[in-house]
Amino acid sequence: MSRHRNVRGYNYDEDFDDDDVYGQSVEDDYCCISPATANQFIYSRQERHAPKEETLEEEEYEDEDVPMSPTVTHNLDPLDQAKLFSCLDHMRTVLGDAVPDSVLTQAAIKCGFDPQRALDAVLSEDTKTAPVNKSASEDVSPVTRVSQEKAPLPQRVKPEAVAEKAKSRDSSHNKLDSEVVPKVARMTVSGKKQTMGFDVPSTGENGVTPAAVSEPTPKRPETPSKGSNGEEPSTVPTPGRSSGKARQSINIKAELEKRQGGKPLLNLVVIGHVDAGKSTLMGHLLYRLGNVNKRTMHKYEQESKKAGKASFAYAWVLDETGEERDRGVTMDVGMTKFETNSKVVTLMDAPGHKDFIPNMITGAAQADVAVLVVDASRGEFEAGFEAGGQTREHALLVRSLGVTQLAVAVNKMDQVNWQQERFQDIVSKLGHFLKQAGFKESDVYYIPTSGLSGENLTTRSTVPELTSWFSGPSLHEQIDAFKAPQRSVDKPFRLCVSDVFKDQGSGFCVTGKIEAGYIQTGDRILAMPPNETCTVKGITLHDEALDWAAAGDHVSLTVTGMDIIKINVGCVFCDPKEPIRACTRFRARVLLFNIEVPITQGFPVLLHYQTISEPATIRKLISVLHKSSGEVLKKKPKCLSKGMNAIVEIQTQRPVALELYKDYKELGRFMLRYVGSTIAAGVVTEIKE
Ligand code: GDP
Repeated sequence: MSRHRNVRGYNYDEDFDDDDVYGQSVEDDYCCISPATANQFIYSRQERHAPKEETLEEEEYEDEDVPMSPTVTHNLDPLDQAKLFSCLDHMRTVLGDAVPDSVLTQAAIKCGFDPQRALDAVLSEDTKTAPVNKSASEDVSPVTRVSQEKAPLPQRVKPEAVAEKAKSRDSSHNKLDSEVVPKVARMTVSGKKQTMGFDVPSTGENGVTPAAVSEPTPKRPETPSKGSNGEEPSTVPTPGRSSGKARQSINIKAELEKRQGGKPLLNLVVIGHVDAGKSTLMGHLLYRLGNVNKRTMHKYEQESKKAGKASFAYAWVLDETGEERDRGVTMDVGMTKFETNSKVVTLMDAPGHKDFIPNMITGAAQADVAVLVVDASRGEFEAGFEAGGQTREHALLVRSLGVTQLAVAVNKMDQVNWQQERFQDIVSKLGHFLKQAGFKESDVYYIPTSGLSGENLTTRSTVPELTSWFSGPSLHEQIDAFKAPQRSVDKPFRLCVSDVFKDQGSGFCVTGKIEAGYIQTGDRILAMPPNETCTVKGITLHDEALDWAAAGDHVSLTVTGMDIIKINVGCVFCDPKEPIRACTRFRARVLLFNIEVPITQGFPVLLHYQTISEPATIRKLISVLHKSSGEVLKKKPKCLSKGMNAIVEIQTQRPVALELYKDYKELGRFMLRYVGSTIAAGVVTEIKE
């Protein structure tokens, strides 16, 4: 699997330790912002109240006893299995699919999982048993011959085969869904098709118009004043499926209390450098929690093995698309849910590769807490942590986007023999950085794990080398221990669209996270832009049809009375009585990161806001502020350099629906990027036009 060491991304100074702007922003007096000001950029999501959600519905499977692996591998302990998979991967890089798995496996075990020796063994065996009629390939080397005779493609992956598989997987999506419990929804910033656990029928030509424009508009009763601190009359709840009838008033807070057996909802994003093992870790966790049945896991194992990527079997639980599997990297944000003792967790697996940072921002913008995965292997942690690695950039991004609690999975500990020194070394390096990035020490938890062998995932480890020095909680226990955030259910309704697609029936579907307020079927809602209203016909949360959903929920809405062509990813649906404003010009307070090029008037940037990335320019430099006091140091500066705190005016090409940070923290924050680097975090202070 190609690794992506040479990644660009966030630019940090070599002397980060002493000079980091983000660190200074919290700690220094001079040229820094005060904790209060910093809080504007790195506010805490803890102050919101968490609603509850539906219980996870598990599917029944008759065939639970299908073995996960062939018998040979079954007898191995998890660590040896991990070594075996790794060794098999190496061997297939050279041999492709030319040699049967059983032969490779035997050789790998015989040679103590040393890929070189195992390869030699297989090849010398092959030479001995090679057919006599060698013909033209008489004098080629064994490797070439194996490739020529049996595997036309010497690479580990046969692209066509994988593509074919991906295609057939796509086409049999419905069938597969009945076999996989975690419904992996996908979020993109590109607006391309994504699913909420079911296949999206093609919209055909551009501009397919929903037929049901004539849908009668159910009159909305007098309950939209969601800013009324929950004083609405407590009327009959509307459990069960949506009937499409006009809405009834509900006491949203009471409903939320009842929902999900009182378990609060937690949106968790998994972040970290590419190849750190994020998908494997979380896929294995889901498997151990019973969210993936053995038959499906077995199927993934077989498929991944055939594709020459046996060690990616767990990752495939979350890496759904053919392309992701083909490339071995996560691209979109995979979304699924699981439960802990006290929480219902919506899990978002963010891409680690720098090319997909926009997708990662989309995921992070919707998260309450994060799991940062780092690779403990020698050289690998360093590659992710150094300038250009995604460990730092991801940690900074999630902090800037409001995440305060972080579990750090120090992963692949099997690769370093569970050494305490290595763990401590990583903890101290990361700890220093995370503190500078604005995380409180008491809100960061470190757990040594192995995503492949499953140590410390759902249960505490039993490996003596590890238990001799670590007795802390498992990853699952730690996720359970996160404090649930408070949600803005009292505020007017806001939902930021992360996808739009045509479903069967009238109308079309949008997906997104409700950032504030709540919604019921039959509600009339306003989309900004384009400033048009439509009616909510149905609400789906984790594939379950509901009559209402509230802040914090990732939902899919079926809407009618509007042309699908008018809705784009990034639109905000809101309460028509208290609409969000769409603008192309706004002022913001920005905190500049370690930028190399000073920012001048007219500087082009990409505005990353919720689910969109929109081309924009810095239209005016208004003032430079003192980082602690916020006092104006200089008006109309000629340029802004790294570490500065400033007020700027930003002009976007197309209208963007924004809120002031003081009104809606969730919808008043954004990031600015420039040629692949994140250059600033900002909060909206004034909407111009
Ligand atoms: P991601 O890019 O962070 O999602 O990483 P993946 O989950 O795709 O894993 C990348 C590679 O690391 C795969 O070959 C995995 O099998 C391997 N891997 C993941 N976790 C572990 C682990 O705990 N130990 C070992 N030895 N390999 C692992």
